[in-house]
Amino acid sequence: MSSTLHAKVPAHDETDALRATDLYRFYRAGEEETLALRGVALQVRRGETVAVIGPSGSGKSTLLACLAGLDEPDGGTVHIGGERISHRPEAERARVRARRVGVLLQSGNLVAHLDVSANIRLARTAVSSRSEQSVTSLLDLVGLGHRARSLPRELAGGELARAGLAVALANDPDILLADEPTGELDGATEQRILQLLRARAQAGGGVLVVTHSPEAVKIADQVITLRDGRVLS
Ligand code: ADP
Ligand code: MG
Repeated sequence: MSSTLHAKVPAHDETDALRATDLYRFYRAGEEETLALRGVALQVRRGETVAVIGPSGSGKSTLLACLAGLDEPDGGTVHIGGERISHRPEAERARVRARRVGVLLQSGNLVAHLDVSANIRLARTAVSSRSEQSVTSLLDLVGLGHRARSLPRELAGGELARAGLAVALANDPDILLADEPTGELDGATEQRILQLLRARAQAGGGVLVVTHSPEAVKIADQVITLRDGRVLS
């Protein structure tokens, strides 16, 4: 696996890729209150792959949204690469997210009318990107060097997943957050994506994957089980 996944993070950097303390999230709909997160704490070190598992409704997607700064927890804090992303104005959260977080959602993170290379460049225009990696080498890394000019709708399922990964890695994030990234992929394609996630962590990034897949759990250094909004110990 190419080392360009890559070696940006200095080996002596002791800051956690991600640290969350005591996260709470309540949803209210009329009389009904759902406690989606009830005091979740977790830590992803640089170089570490963490799998988050748990039954449907246990709070996995809510957790991922709070970690990514897409949602605000009602209590607790989230730090990415030592910088706080929780409880800040929306514009500041967006800045930290663009610079430090790579998000891979099942719904996809590609703009439909832009080709693959333009999608990567778009992700980079959102910030003064820290990444020194060329678009070409990023695409080579995920095995899509020949697909730079393809539109998302022209890609097969596995290619689409790898294009999404390239976009998520466009700004060399401290943490890569993925929600069921291999949910709809065949076994061989899943293995390919998992290898890329693993390589990303081994190159010094943090990786957190919400998953149902036993294969994804196998590659994890740490497995966190959620049940009713709490971490099972
Ligand atoms: P998972 O991803 O593990 O399936 P979720 O984080 O999607 O779990 O949901 C956790 C709980 O929070 C569930 O009970 C769900 O119904 C509830 N929930 C999630 N999002 C909302 C929302 N926007 N409004 C109200 N309840 C929600
Ligand atoms: Mg979910």
